[in-house]
Amino acid sequence: MSKAILTIDDIASKNTPAIVDYLCEKHIKAVLFAVGENVEKYFDEAVYALQKGMIIGNHSYSHPSFSKLSLEEGIAEIEKNEEVLTRLYEKAGVAREVKVFRFPYGDKGGENKEALQSYLREHGFKKLTDTQITSSWYAENGLHADIDTFWTFDFGEWQIREGSSFSADSVFDRIHDEKPTYGDVLLQEGSHHILLFHAHDETEKQLPGYHRLFLDHLLECGVEFEEPRFEPADGQKELLRQALAELKRWSGELCRQAGKSEADAEQFFQGLCESEGLLREFAYYHDTHRFLCEKKVAGYSIADIMVWQVDHFKAYLDRGDECLRYDSARLLLASFSIMMEMEKNPVPYVEKMKRESGTDSPEAFY
Ligand SMILES: [Zn+2]
Repeated sequence: MSKAILTIDDIASKNTPAIVDYLCEKHIKAVLFAVGENVEKYFDEAVYALQKGMIIGNHSYSHPSFSKLSLEEGIAEIEKNEEVLTRLYEKAGVAREVKVFRFPYGDKGGENKEALQSYLREHGFKKLTDTQITSSWYAENGLHADIDTFWTFDFGEWQIREGSSFSADSVFDRIHDEKPTYGDVLLQEGSHHILLFHAHDETEKQLPGYHRLFLDHLLECGVEFEEPRFEPADGQKELLRQALAELKRWSGELCRQAGKSEADAEQFFQGLCESEGLLREFAYYHDTHRFLCEKKVAGYSIADIMVWQVDHFKAYLDRGDECLRYDSARLLLASFSIMMEMEKNPVPYVEKMKRESGTDSPEAFY
């Protein structure tokens, strides 16, 4: 059957707690996209959703069409809601583990689209994992590459309004539609979905308990609800991949300069990748030719080790050992290699560093 992640937009509302209770009863964890104004109005209801384990994301402060806003106005909409959400998570006593964003009406901002995507990336937003979505509709619309969270199926239940011809039957038709005009076929074997649902008191008024009616039906049809997972968008992953490839190329070059073998180079880079902190130090040095020094082992930073290395090399020279002449590539590689070793067992290195202090006190070496 198909698998799906449930997202519910426009919270908070009066009916939010009832929907949350239903989700808890069915063990469904959903991502709720909040409108700042609505959260301010129904703050306790939003707190309740967080405390019951739901994830709350940003859906702008006042639900505008982003293509009608300037870039500054769009960013202000996001940031104003971020302030509301920060207060909300604090009040609920829940740690905010992820920041997700969905554009109102799926309007990605028209001519500001790329600038808004960059803004969201630079401010640490992630998206609901969508690598499992393989439909051509999703790919053709470039949705894998974007950092905001879109959907593959819209229940459309928000259109159930007084005087509207859209009814519960219209929703059931959509669920079983085998040729949707947009989005993906929901009940197709083996498909993956991000479902768009809404918490609207207007819908509740027209069709009380609508969430139970439609979500129960999906469960009866065998739809399996998955736990939401988050990750950078494909575009961001591609940038990471390129950055990593460049670091690997550069470390290989350093290794060649230092006279090391291909296998040594491979092992060196592998070691860097296994130590998250050191890879970051290495990347920072690559970019700036300065040391970041965030990573410390037994109180020593990479710069401390580098300094010790210089002393260490000098000490060798003092002993008449000419084969270890100063070599910047070698020195840099040695410092990183030592730190990798120190991560596993710092004791022998710390002892050595205390003993060897370079040319100023060569007696300490003998
Ligand atoms: Zn909305």
